[in-house]
Order: sequence, then C-alpha cells, then structure tokens
Amino acid sequence: MLALLAAGTAVALTGCATAEGETVEAGSAGEIPTPRLPAPTPVQPLLPPPPGGPKSIIPPKPITALPGQGLTMALTVDDGVSPEVVGAYVKWAKDTGARFTFFVTGYYESWTIHRNELRPLVDSGQIQLGNHTWDHAALTKISSTEVADQLGRTKTFLRNNFGVDGTPFYRPPFGYHNAAVDKVAADLGYTVPTMWYGSLSDSGLITEEYLLECADKYFAAQSIIIGHANFPPVTHCYGQLVDIIRARNLSLVTLNDVLQVQA
Ligand SMILES: [Zn+2]
Repeated sequence: MLALLAAGTAVALTGCATAEGETVEAGSAGEIPTPRLPAPTPVQPLLPPPPGGPKSIIPPKPITALPGQGLTMALTVDDGVSPEVVGAYVKWAKDTGARFTFFVTGYYESWTIHRNELRPLVDSGQIQLGNHTWDHAALTKISSTEVADQLGRTKTFLRNNFGVDGTPFYRPPFGYHNAAVDKVAADLGYTVPTMWYGSLSDSGLITEEYLLECADKYFAAQSIIIGHANFPPVTHCYGQLVDIIRARNLSLVTLNDVLQVQA
C-alpha cells in the first residue's frame, strides 16, 4: 500500500510540471502557467425546476393525470422493498434536482434506513411522501377496520419520522380501491386516491431495456407515472430517464407542486 502511494505521488509530481516550474504543455514564453485542474467528475444534466404559477384546484376524487395544458410530469415511486434503490433515488434527486413523490409502504425498513438523508428533501418539498399502506394490503379484500389500520399506521409512521402525513394523497396497492375503501381513507384525510397513466412496470424484476421502453412509451406531459423502489434496474437507467424527460421538455414535479385539493 505504501509503495503504491509513493508511486502515485511520484506520478503526480512529474505529471504536472517540470522541476523548473514550467508547464509540460507548450505555451508562449513568459505566460503565467495556469494550474491544471483535475478533470471534473461527470454529473447528470440538471432537470429544470417546476414551472411555478398557480396550482390546479382539484376535487377530492381519484386522479390518473395532472389537469391542465402544462409540460409537467409527476413521477411517483412506490413500495421501497430495497433500501439500495430508495437510496439511489435519493441520490438521483440530489444529483439532478429531480422532484418526485414516494408512496411509502411503512413496513419496509428502507424508510427508516434513509430517514436522515430523506428528511431535508422532504422538508424542502423536492421529495413528497404519500401513503401506500402499512404492508401493501389489497384494501378491497379486508374489513374497513383493517383498511383504517393499514392507512393509519403509515400515517403515524410518516408523521413521526418525516413531520408530514402524506395527506391528501394515497395510493391503493395494486390499484384496488372502491367507494367503501375511499370513504375510510377520506376519513383519515386521504381524499385523493392517486392512480396513474403509465407504469415503468418494475414492481417486479424486469430488464433495463424493458424499463426504458416503458419510459419512452409513457413519459408525457401531464402524466402521472408509477415506478417502484424494489429492484436495481431503474438505478442504472437514471441518465436515460433524464434524457427522455429533457428531450420532451418536461419538468418533473411533486403532486404538491401542482395540485391543491378543494377545501
Ligand atoms: Zn405498491
């Protein structure tokens, strides 16, 4: 190890300048040598900020798209089976300014593992949290009491860990909801069942190629897209996802960036 370090130092010394202080590269005489900066670390291109302007006022009903004629897209990321994938999404947000909404399944430890790095992004509004039940129950197949428990446990979990409770947005696992489920949810403050227009199809393990096909097919103005923090392929596709978003002049937004529910 020491030998390696020594060799590295020697390269660093001889690589930048001669002993006389002249730059290695040819330059005109008398020019003050400019110190060579290390090559910058490649970064993802930054995503544009949300467009601003007034929010759309929506009724307390299910949504599958963002209203209006804008160029925004709401990426929503569910479950959190994999702490590594949740962490990669958080890093992606930090690296690119991506704004999105996590629909949290409270049972998965990803959310406590990444609480401290998530919290400032939640506080600033760059990442929004919604309720995706406690352990991914099919809400149409359980009693009203159990539905209330599923949503209530995650509501308390979010409040205790992130200072928000996700209201008014909840996402029913598998998309299963009905009037009875929505009534229980609304009584807990979740008045907007948040469905989707297109899916990255990655609740299970798929290939990167297929995920990118889905993105190409569904990323569109005013769409709500569903993805999952469950399996690694998406974490290898962030650069291409950014490329698609930019090529289509879309801005990623959280639901709160653009929506306000009628009082
Ligand atoms: Zn889910």
